[in-house]
Amino acid sequence: MRVELDLPDVRAILGRLAEVFEERKDELNDLDTKIGDGDHGFSMARGFGAVRAHAEGGADKDIGELLMAGGMQFNEAAGSTIGILMFSALREAGKVAAGKTTLRLSDVADMLEAAITGITKRGKATVGQKTILDSLSPALTALREGLSAGEEEAAVVGLRCGRREPVRTPHARCDPQSAEPDGSPTGERARSIPALCPGRS
Ligand SMILES: [Mg+2]
Repeated sequence: MRVELDLPDVRAILGRLAEVFEERKDELNDLDTKIGDGDHGFSMARGFGAVRAHAEGGADKDIGELLMAGGMQFNEAAGSTIGILMFSALREAGKVAAGKTTLRLSDVADMLEAAITGITKRGKATVGQKTILDSLSPALTALREGLSAGEEEAAVVGLRCGRREPVRTPHARCDPQSAEPDGSPTGERARSIPALCPGRS
């Protein structure tokens, strides 16, 4: 299996993120109430809603441009610290994807690594401090491990699950809890990316 994503795929993924954060914003707000001011769900839903609206405009010529412009939209809509952090993540990932209209999985790994570096610099956080880095960093490790083993499908499942998982084709999922939230896919395009949603293929 050779995984490749194009510009419409990336637009569909951003749309799916907007949908997921909208669906789960109350859950995120509840979690944030325990450690913060209880608005994290609203911020993420507003931010990715703005990214989706921008992506749907279809103005960007390549994936780098889309992510960099999307990061600015996120920051404008969400504001506060998370706005700056996601702006940094999307901008750094976008720089890696500059000029690209298709991505291989190794590009995705480089983009994720750049996003992590951006968040780390801006947020002055390290892995183990209960931040977003605790999910992104293991996902990058699992993705890289799958790639260096020459197992693209394992790499994708690792990215989704944040750890190496046995791949049970054709319905590989994370067990016991899937990283893929319940609910219906957003549309034909998102459904047509079996590599990213293997449980739904
Ligand atoms: Mg807050």
